[in-house]
Amino acid sequence: MQIPKLAIIIPCYNEELCVESTCVRLLEVLDMLIAKGKITSDSYLYFVDDGSVDKTWSLIEGLYQKYPQRVKAAKFIRNYGNQKAHIAGLEGVRNIGCDCAVSIDADLQQDELAIEKFLDEYQKGYDVVLGIRNNRDTDSFFKKTTAVMFYKLMNLLGAHIPMNHSDYRLVSKRALDVMELYHEKALFLRGFFHDVGLKTSTVYFDVKPRFAGKSKYNIYSLMGLALNGITSFSIYPLRIISCLGFLMAVFAFLVGLETVFEKIFFNNSPNGTATTIILLCFFGGLQIFCLGVIGEYVGQVYREVKARPRYITEKELK
Ligand code: UDP
Ligand code: MG
Repeated sequence: MQIPKLAIIIPCYNEELCVESTCVRLLEVLDMLIAKGKITSDSYLYFVDDGSVDKTWSLIEGLYQKYPQRVKAAKFIRNYGNQKAHIAGLEGVRNIGCDCAVSIDADLQQDELAIEKFLDEYQKGYDVVLGIRNNRDTDSFFKKTTAVMFYKLMNLLGAHIPMNHSDYRLVSKRALDVMELYHEKALFLRGFFHDVGLKTSTVYFDVKPRFAGKSKYNIYSLMGLALNGITSFSIYPLRIISCLGFLMAVFAFLVGLETVFEKIFFNNSPNGTATTIILLCFFGGLQIFCLGVIGEYVGQVYREVKARPRYITEKELK
Protein backbone atom coordinates (compact mmCIF):
# COMPACT_ATOMS: atom_id res chain seq x y z
CA MET A 1 0.00 0.00 0.00
CA GLN A 2 1.24 3.49 -0.71
CA ILE A 3 2.06 6.01 2.02
CA PRO A 4 -1.13 7.80 3.12
CA LYS A 5 -1.70 11.49 3.62
CA LEU A 6 -3.00 11.87 7.18
CA ALA A 7 -5.24 14.62 8.56
CA ILE A 8 -5.63 14.98 12.32
CA ILE A 9 -8.91 16.60 13.39
CA ILE A 10 -8.97 18.49 16.69
CA PRO A 11 -12.31 19.87 17.95
CA CYS A 12 -11.78 22.80 20.32
CA TYR A 13 -14.18 24.59 22.57
CA ASN A 14 -12.65 27.22 24.86
CA GLU A 15 -9.29 25.46 24.80
CA GLU A 16 -6.99 28.50 25.02
CA LEU A 17 -4.93 26.72 27.65
CA CYS A 18 -4.36 23.65 25.50
CA VAL A 19 -4.45 24.52 21.84
CA GLU A 20 -0.86 25.72 21.32
CA SER A 21 0.92 22.96 23.17
CA THR A 22 -1.40 20.39 21.60
CA CYS A 23 -0.51 21.73 18.15
CA VAL A 24 3.22 21.56 18.85
CA ARG A 25 2.92 18.04 20.25
CA LEU A 26 0.85 16.77 17.31
CA LEU A 27 3.27 18.32 14.82
CA GLU A 28 6.03 16.38 16.58
CA VAL A 29 3.97 13.22 16.15
CA LEU A 30 3.48 14.02 12.44
CA ASP A 31 7.25 14.57 12.08
CA MET A 32 7.97 11.27 13.78
CA LEU A 33 5.51 9.44 11.49
CA ILE A 34 6.91 11.18 8.39
CA ALA A 35 10.46 10.19 9.43
CA LYS A 36 9.33 6.58 9.80
CA GLY A 37 7.80 6.70 6.32
CA LYS A 38 4.28 6.03 7.62
CA ILE A 39 2.61 9.20 6.30
CA THR A 40 3.37 11.72 3.57
CA SER A 41 5.08 15.02 4.36
CA ASP A 42 1.99 17.03 3.41
CA SER A 43 -0.06 15.51 6.23
CA TYR A 44 -1.70 18.20 8.37
CA LEU A 45 -3.71 19.21 11.45
CA TYR A 46 -7.28 20.46 11.14
CA PHE A 47 -8.66 22.44 14.08
CA VAL A 48 -12.40 22.99 14.42
CA ASP A 49 -13.25 25.84 16.74
CA ASP A 50 -16.71 25.04 18.07
CA GLY A 51 -17.71 28.66 18.70
CA SER A 52 -15.21 29.34 21.49
CA VAL A 53 -15.66 32.55 23.42
CA ASP A 54 -12.08 32.74 24.68
CA LYS A 55 -8.81 33.24 22.74
CA THR A 56 -8.85 29.83 21.08
CA TRP A 57 -9.53 31.12 17.55
CA SER A 58 -6.90 33.87 17.61
CA LEU A 59 -4.38 31.30 18.86
CA ILE A 60 -5.35 28.98 15.99
CA GLU A 61 -4.91 31.86 13.53
CA GLY A 62 -1.45 32.42 14.99
CA LEU A 63 -0.61 28.74 14.52
CA TYR A 64 -1.87 28.88 10.93
CA GLN A 65 0.44 31.80 10.22
CA LYS A 66 3.37 30.01 11.83
CA TYR A 67 2.78 26.66 10.07
CA PRO A 68 0.71 27.56 6.95
CA GLN A 69 1.21 24.22 5.21
CA ARG A 70 0.66 22.06 8.25
CA VAL A 71 -2.19 23.72 10.14
CA LYS A 72 -5.68 24.25 8.77
CA ALA A 73 -8.81 25.24 10.61
CA ALA A 74 -12.49 26.11 10.58
CA LYS A 75 -14.52 28.20 12.99
CA PHE A 76 -18.20 27.71 13.80
CA ILE A 77 -20.44 30.71 14.12
CA ARG A 78 -21.57 29.44 17.53
CA ASN A 79 -21.19 26.42 19.78
CA TYR A 80 -22.80 23.32 18.25
CA GLY A 81 -21.33 20.63 20.47
CA ASN A 82 -18.52 18.17 20.11
CA GLN A 83 -20.30 15.76 17.68
CA LYS A 84 -20.90 18.53 15.16
CA ALA A 85 -17.30 19.67 15.51
CA HIS A 86 -16.13 16.13 14.72
CA ILE A 87 -18.46 15.93 11.71
CA ALA A 88 -17.27 19.32 10.44
CA GLY A 89 -13.69 18.10 10.82
CA LEU A 90 -14.37 14.97 8.81
CA GLU A 91 -16.16 16.92 6.09
CA GLY A 92 -13.48 19.62 6.09
CA VAL A 93 -10.56 17.23 5.61
CA ARG A 94 -12.49 15.32 2.96
CA ASN A 95 -12.82 18.56 0.98
CA ILE A 96 -9.19 19.56 1.45
CA GLY A 97 -8.02 16.03 0.70
CA CYS A 98 -6.46 13.18 2.66
CA ASP A 99 -6.22 9.38 2.57
CA CYS A 100 -7.17 8.90 6.18
CA ALA A 101 -8.20 11.06 9.14
CA VAL A 102 -7.81 10.71 12.90
CA SER A 103 -9.94 12.66 15.40
CA ILE A 104 -8.41 13.49 18.75
CA ASP A 105 -9.47 15.73 21.67
CA ALA A 106 -7.73 19.07 22.11
CA ASP A 107 -6.72 18.23 25.68
CA LEU A 108 -4.67 15.24 24.42
CA GLN A 109 -6.24 12.98 27.02
CA GLN A 110 -6.01 10.24 24.44
CA ASP A 111 -2.52 8.87 23.94
CA GLU A 112 -1.37 10.56 20.71
CA LEU A 113 1.25 7.86 20.08
CA ALA A 114 -1.55 5.38 19.39
CA ILE A 115 -1.95 7.12 16.00
CA GLU A 116 0.99 5.03 14.79
CA LYS A 117 -0.89 1.84 15.70
CA PHE A 118 -3.99 3.22 13.94
CA LEU A 119 -1.93 3.65 10.79
CA ASP A 120 -0.58 0.11 11.03
CA GLU A 121 -4.16 -1.18 11.10
CA TYR A 122 -5.05 1.10 8.19
CA GLN A 123 -2.17 -0.38 6.21
CA LYS A 124 -3.63 -3.84 6.84
CA GLY A 125 -6.70 -2.69 4.92
CA TYR A 126 -9.09 -1.53 7.65
CA ASP A 127 -11.31 1.44 6.84
CA VAL A 128 -12.24 2.23 10.43
CA VAL A 129 -9.89 1.85 13.40
CA LEU A 130 -11.52 2.49 16.77
CA GLY A 131 -9.51 3.65 19.75
CA ILE A 132 -10.62 1.77 22.86
CA ARG A 133 -9.56 3.10 26.25
CA ASN A 134 -7.70 0.73 28.52
CA ASN A 135 -9.26 2.14 31.67
CA ARG A 136 -11.40 4.95 33.01
CA ASP A 137 -9.14 5.91 35.92
CA THR A 138 -9.09 9.57 34.91
CA ASP A 139 -12.89 9.86 34.95
CA SER A 140 -14.94 10.95 37.94
CA PHE A 141 -17.08 8.31 39.66
CA PHE A 142 -20.18 9.91 38.15
CA LYS A 143 -18.82 9.81 34.61
CA LYS A 144 -17.55 6.26 34.99
CA THR A 145 -20.92 4.92 36.16
CA THR A 146 -22.99 6.88 33.64
CA ALA A 147 -20.67 5.80 30.82
CA VAL A 148 -21.00 2.11 31.74
CA MET A 149 -24.79 2.51 31.99
CA PHE A 150 -24.84 4.24 28.61
CA TYR A 151 -22.96 1.46 26.79
CA LYS A 152 -25.00 -1.27 28.49
CA LEU A 153 -28.30 0.47 27.68
CA MET A 154 -27.31 1.19 24.10
CA ASN A 155 -26.35 -2.40 23.45
CA LEU A 156 -29.43 -3.72 25.24
CA LEU A 157 -31.60 -1.53 23.03
CA GLY A 158 -30.00 -2.83 19.88
CA ALA A 159 -27.85 0.19 19.01
CA HIS A 160 -24.50 -1.55 19.08
CA ILE A 161 -21.57 0.67 19.84
CA PRO A 162 -18.19 -0.54 21.01
CA MET A 163 -17.61 -0.31 24.75
CA ASN A 164 -15.20 2.44 25.87
CA HIS A 165 -14.74 3.94 22.46
CA SER A 166 -14.92 7.72 22.51
CA ASP A 167 -14.46 9.65 19.30
CA TYR A 168 -10.76 8.75 18.96
CA ARG A 169 -10.53 6.84 15.71
CA LEU A 170 -9.00 6.63 12.27
CA VAL A 171 -11.21 6.55 9.20
CA SER A 172 -10.20 6.06 5.59
CA LYS A 173 -11.11 8.23 2.63
CA ARG A 174 -13.63 5.55 1.73
CA ALA A 175 -15.37 5.91 5.10
CA LEU A 176 -15.46 9.69 4.60
CA ASP A 177 -17.09 9.21 1.21
CA VAL A 178 -19.72 6.91 2.73
CA MET A 179 -20.42 9.50 5.43
CA GLU A 180 -21.44 11.98 2.77
CA LEU A 181 -24.31 9.66 1.86
CA TYR A 182 -25.78 9.90 5.36
CA HIS A 183 -27.83 13.06 5.35
CA GLU A 184 -29.25 12.85 8.85
CA LYS A 185 -28.65 16.04 10.75
CA ALA A 186 -28.08 14.58 14.17
CA LEU A 187 -25.55 12.00 13.00
CA PHE A 188 -24.21 10.01 15.96
CA LEU A 189 -20.71 9.12 14.83
CA ARG A 190 -20.03 6.15 17.08
CA GLY A 191 -23.22 4.46 15.95
CA PHE A 192 -22.68 5.48 12.35
CA PHE A 193 -19.20 4.00 11.94
CA HIS A 194 -20.48 0.75 13.39
CA ASP A 195 -23.63 0.81 11.30
CA VAL A 196 -21.98 1.25 7.88
CA GLY A 197 -20.26 -2.08 8.23
CA LEU A 198 -16.87 -1.14 6.81
CA LYS A 199 -13.89 -3.29 7.78
CA THR A 200 -13.19 -2.27 11.36
CA SER A 201 -10.31 -2.87 13.72
CA THR A 202 -9.54 -1.69 17.26
CA VAL A 203 -6.50 -0.29 19.02
CA TYR A 204 -6.16 0.03 22.79
CA PHE A 205 -4.75 3.20 24.26
CA ASP A 206 -4.16 4.80 27.66
CA VAL A 207 -6.04 7.82 28.89
CA LYS A 208 -4.20 10.67 30.55
CA PRO A 209 -5.61 13.36 32.80
CA ARG A 210 -6.56 16.62 31.05
CA PHE A 211 -3.33 18.68 31.13
CA ALA A 212 -5.02 22.10 31.28
CA GLY A 213 -8.49 23.63 31.39
CA LYS A 214 -11.73 21.91 32.43
CA SER A 215 -13.96 19.24 30.95
CA LYS A 216 -16.71 20.76 28.80
CA TYR A 217 -19.16 17.98 29.50
CA ASN A 218 -21.98 18.08 31.99
CA ILE A 219 -24.92 15.84 32.77
CA TYR A 220 -27.13 17.56 30.16
CA SER A 221 -24.70 17.19 27.27
CA LEU A 222 -24.08 13.55 28.20
CA MET A 223 -27.81 12.83 28.39
CA GLY A 224 -28.35 14.60 25.07
CA LEU A 225 -25.63 12.47 23.47
CA ALA A 226 -27.10 9.27 24.92
CA LEU A 227 -30.65 10.07 23.81
CA ASN A 228 -29.50 11.04 20.33
CA GLY A 229 -27.49 7.83 20.11
CA ILE A 230 -30.46 5.70 21.11
CA THR A 231 -33.11 7.43 19.01
CA SER A 232 -30.77 7.56 15.97
CA PHE A 233 -29.83 3.91 15.95
CA SER A 234 -32.53 1.90 17.66
CA ILE A 235 -36.31 1.58 17.55
CA TYR A 236 -36.31 -1.06 20.28
CA PRO A 237 -37.82 1.34 22.84
CA LEU A 238 -40.84 1.78 20.56
CA ARG A 239 -41.20 -1.97 20.18
CA ILE A 240 -40.91 -2.46 23.93
CA ILE A 241 -43.76 0.02 24.37
CA SER A 242 -45.92 -1.89 21.89
CA CYS A 243 -45.25 -5.16 23.74
CA LEU A 244 -45.91 -3.50 27.07
CA GLY A 245 -49.24 -2.15 25.81
CA PHE A 246 -50.21 -5.59 24.56
CA LEU A 247 -49.28 -7.31 27.84
CA MET A 248 -51.23 -4.71 29.83
CA ALA A 249 -54.30 -5.25 27.66
CA VAL A 250 -54.07 -9.01 28.26
CA PHE A 251 -53.67 -8.39 32.00
CA ALA A 252 -56.71 -6.06 32.08
CA PHE A 253 -58.79 -8.58 30.14
CA LEU A 254 -57.92 -11.39 32.58
CA VAL A 255 -58.67 -9.24 35.63
CA GLY A 256 -61.99 -8.21 34.05
CA LEU A 257 -62.84 -11.84 33.35
CA GLU A 258 -62.09 -12.78 36.92
CA THR A 259 -64.32 -9.97 38.25
CA VAL A 260 -67.27 -11.05 36.09
CA PHE A 261 -66.68 -14.68 37.06
CA GLU A 262 -66.75 -13.86 40.80
CA LYS A 263 -69.88 -11.73 40.41
CA ILE A 264 -71.82 -14.37 38.50
CA PHE A 265 -70.84 -17.46 40.44
CA PHE A 266 -70.15 -16.11 43.93
CA ASN A 267 -72.10 -12.83 43.82
CA ASN A 268 -68.94 -11.29 45.18
CA SER A 269 -67.84 -7.77 44.06
CA PRO A 270 -64.14 -7.33 44.89
CA ASN A 271 -63.49 -4.38 47.16
CA GLY A 272 -60.15 -2.73 46.56
CA THR A 273 -59.89 1.06 46.71
CA ALA A 274 -56.19 0.99 47.54
CA THR A 275 -55.46 -1.45 44.72
CA THR A 276 -57.41 0.71 42.30
CA ILE A 277 -55.50 3.85 43.28
CA ILE A 278 -52.13 2.13 43.09
CA LEU A 279 -52.90 0.59 39.70
CA LEU A 280 -54.26 3.89 38.41
CA CYS A 281 -51.11 5.75 39.41
CA PHE A 282 -48.86 2.98 38.14
CA PHE A 283 -50.46 2.77 34.74
CA GLY A 284 -50.87 6.55 34.52
CA GLY A 285 -47.15 6.97 35.17
CA LEU A 286 -46.24 4.22 32.74
CA GLN A 287 -48.36 5.82 30.03
CA ILE A 288 -46.73 9.22 30.49
CA PHE A 289 -43.31 7.58 30.44
CA CYS A 290 -44.15 5.75 27.21
CA LEU A 291 -45.46 8.96 25.70
CA GLY A 292 -42.17 10.60 26.63
CA VAL A 293 -40.23 7.85 24.82
CA ILE A 294 -42.40 8.25 21.74
CA GLY A 295 -41.97 12.01 22.11
CA GLU A 296 -38.19 11.59 21.88
CA TYR A 297 -38.61 9.91 18.51
CA VAL A 298 -41.11 12.52 17.35
CA GLY A 299 -38.57 15.17 18.39
CA GLN A 300 -35.90 13.39 16.36
CA VAL A 301 -38.19 13.34 13.32
CA TYR A 302 -39.08 17.00 13.90
CA ARG A 303 -35.42 18.02 13.92
CA GLU A 304 -34.65 15.98 10.82
CA VAL A 305 -37.68 17.23 8.88
CA LYS A 306 -36.74 20.84 9.47
CA ALA A 307 -33.42 19.95 7.85
CA ARG A 308 -31.54 22.88 9.30
CA PRO A 309 -27.84 22.90 8.49
CA ARG A 310 -25.75 20.77 10.84
CA TYR A 311 -23.53 23.75 11.53
CA ILE A 312 -22.57 27.07 10.02
CA THR A 313 -18.93 27.86 9.46
CA GLU A 314 -17.86 31.43 9.92
CA LYS A 315 -14.28 31.17 8.69
CA GLU A 316 -11.99 28.54 7.24
CA LEU A 317 -8.21 28.59 6.98
CA LYS A 318 -6.90 26.14 4.41
N1 UDP B 1 -15.63 20.08 22.65
C1 UDP B 1 -16.23 20.72 21.57
N2 UDP B 1 -17.46 21.29 21.75
C2 UDP B 1 -18.14 21.24 22.94
C3 UDP B 1 -17.52 20.55 24.02
C4 UDP B 1 -16.28 19.98 23.83
O1 UDP B 1 -15.67 20.77 20.49
O2 UDP B 1 -19.24 21.79 23.03
C5 UDP B 1 -14.29 19.47 22.46
C6 UDP B 1 -13.26 19.86 23.51
O3 UDP B 1 -12.61 21.07 23.19
C7 UDP B 1 -12.33 18.67 23.48
C8 UDP B 1 -13.25 17.52 23.16
O4 UDP B 1 -14.42 18.08 22.59
O5 UDP B 1 -11.38 18.77 22.45
C9 UDP B 1 -13.61 16.69 24.38
O6 UDP B 1 -14.08 17.55 25.40
P1 UDP B 1 -13.66 17.41 26.91
O7 UDP B 1 -12.20 17.13 27.03
O8 UDP B 1 -14.16 18.61 27.62
O9 UDP B 1 -14.51 16.14 27.34
P2 UDP B 1 -14.09 14.94 28.30
O10 UDP B 1 -12.70 14.53 27.94
O11 UDP B 1 -14.19 15.47 29.67
O12 UDP B 1 -15.10 13.89 27.98
MG1 MG C 1 -11.08 15.59 27.67
